[in-house]
Amino acid sequence: MYEHRRIPYGKGVKYINPRVSFDGVNWWIAVSIEYPDNIEIPTNEGIGIDVGIEKLAVVSDGNIYKNINKTKEIEKLEKRKKRLQRKVSRKYEKGREGDRYKKTKNIIRLENQLKKLNQRLTNIRHNYSHQITTEIIKRKPGFIVVEDLNVLGMMKNKHLSKAIQYQGFYEFYRQLQYKSEWNNIKFIVADRFFPSSKTCSQCGSYKKNLKLSDRKYICEDCGSILDRDLNASLNLKNYGQEIA
Ligand SMILES: [Zn+2]
Repeated sequence: MYEHRRIPYGKGVKYINPRVSFDGVNWWIAVSIEYPDNIEIPTNEGIGIDVGIEKLAVVSDGNIYKNINKTKEIEKLEKRKKRLQRKVSRKYEKGREGDRYKKTKNIIRLENQLKKLNQRLTNIRHNYSHQITTEIIKRKPGFIVVEDLNVLGMMKNKHLSKAIQYQGFYEFYRQLQYKSEWNNIKFIVADRFFPSSKTCSQCGSYKKNLKLSDRKYICEDCGSILDRDLNASLNLKNYGQEIA
């Protein structure tokens, strides 16, 4: 609801089959929405998107989106979450009788706080992802190319657990994919062996010895100097152009 026009409305839009549920913390209402298919075919240039930890997304058209997990707000909430988790496990330990753990009123209260905090974190992350994916789709690219998620799964990150980072990528892809479908945009996942980082997007030469720490792609063949992530996004775009 937070994002303007996230939910379709207007002529031909129908809301049906409302369901109400309670998850222990919040009440939810879910509705199905029926609306006419979008028949407009986007004709703008296609784009490649390089996803990463340093920045969430670098787009071949020059747009850059930060990683929200590196913001003060998320870091603060993550710290609070860790404190709460420790508190809960201490309480469990305290009330332990042999192999049996007791769930006291106090523990239930803390666990509800934890649940709320988790929901808040998820909401912030998902909303941010929605804002970006909607913005990208609004530019109506002819196609979108991204890297295989298996490649991203191998990345290192000191500050946040891999699982959380991976969930963020997964959610970003999920939103991009269904919003692409809604807007007749081809959504392409590059082959997992496609060398999007090690190829020069300008001349196509291959740089075997590109290190993870090299933030710039410097081509010894054509002399191009490009930001590493931008170079990767341009390669993904080229990949799309060849198969689209
Ligand atoms: Zn080159």
